[in-house]
Amino acid sequence: LGEIINVKDIVEKRKILIKERIERLKREEGITPKLAVIIANSEESSRVYVGRKRKMCESLGILEEEYEFSEKITTEDVLKEIERLNNYDTVNGILVQLPLFKHLDTSKILKAVSPTKDVDGFHPENFGNLIQGNGKIAPCTPKGVMTILKEIGVDVEGKDAVVVGRSVIVGRPMAAMLTNEGATVTICHSKTKDLISHTKRADILIVAVGVPHLIKENMVKENSIVIDVGINKVDGKLVGDVDTKNVIKIAKSVTPVPGGVGLTTVHTLMENLIDLTETL
Ligand code: NAD
Repeated sequence: LGEIINVKDIVEKRKILIKERIERLKREEGITPKLAVIIANSEESSRVYVGRKRKMCESLGILEEEYEFSEKITTEDVLKEIERLNNYDTVNGILVQLPLFKHLDTSKILKAVSPTKDVDGFHPENFGNLIQGNGKIAPCTPKGVMTILKEIGVDVEGKDAVVVGRSVIVGRPMAAMLTNEGATVTICHSKTKDLISHTKRADILIVAVGVPHLIKENMVKENSIVIDVGINKVDGKLVGDVDTKNVIKIAKSVTPVPGGVGLTTVHTLMENLIDLTETL
């Protein structure tokens, strides 16, 4: 039987490092990092995610401000607010909580965030730098996955990595980061013809789809590392995209859901904020 990766311990360890960096910023530069969060939707889950980010900020001594808008808000209004926050010296990071109300222009809004305050790494400039292999700020979820791989001692160089899912938030930047580190990367998605033929070859399998237990034990390679990004609600319970209980019989290590990748996502957001604050 393989092991369930203890992501909680990894996060606790990294939190200590972040705290040290925050202390130094306060002590030597008189700066207390501040995150501004823009919420323009009516999704209940967004409130939960923002709540987690708020809590993490509080526990680390980071300032956090939320700007919540009603459905009457226009793209222009949001752009104006972002422009104001871009110019505020005391704001180090701006996070636009997705999804936005349907009538808002998400692409335009994400582009308006200054690349120097783009904690989520969604600005095309940061995304482009990432693809070119010299990105400093990368989207939190895939960056958190890279942290997990590093912390459990996986050297991705030369490995066959398969990423299932090609979203802008997870799959694509994940593939870019693995490529940058020297893995041979395959991206699978809803149009992939024979998913199992790809997943079965993966030394490192990363699944970000949103289909409960899509990945079964017959789909993974022996002794592989399986990272489950999926978060699905089934009968009121959270489950991932990986059938962990059975996959663990074949794989070497699997991340759990809940208590897996989700933990590193929030924590990586804080790392991005500190990176941006330090390069002021
Ligand atoms: P998305 O809906 O934007 O993308 C899903 C991707 O899966 C698409 O590229 C699609 O082509 C692919 N896909 C769909 N069905 C497939 C199938 N049967 N076989 C292969 N590929 C298929 O989703 P997303 O935003 O990337 O999120 C994916 C999952 O990860 C969701 O469950 C989401 O809740 C979760 N998520 C978790 C975190 C975290 O912090 N843990 C962060 C972001 C997203």
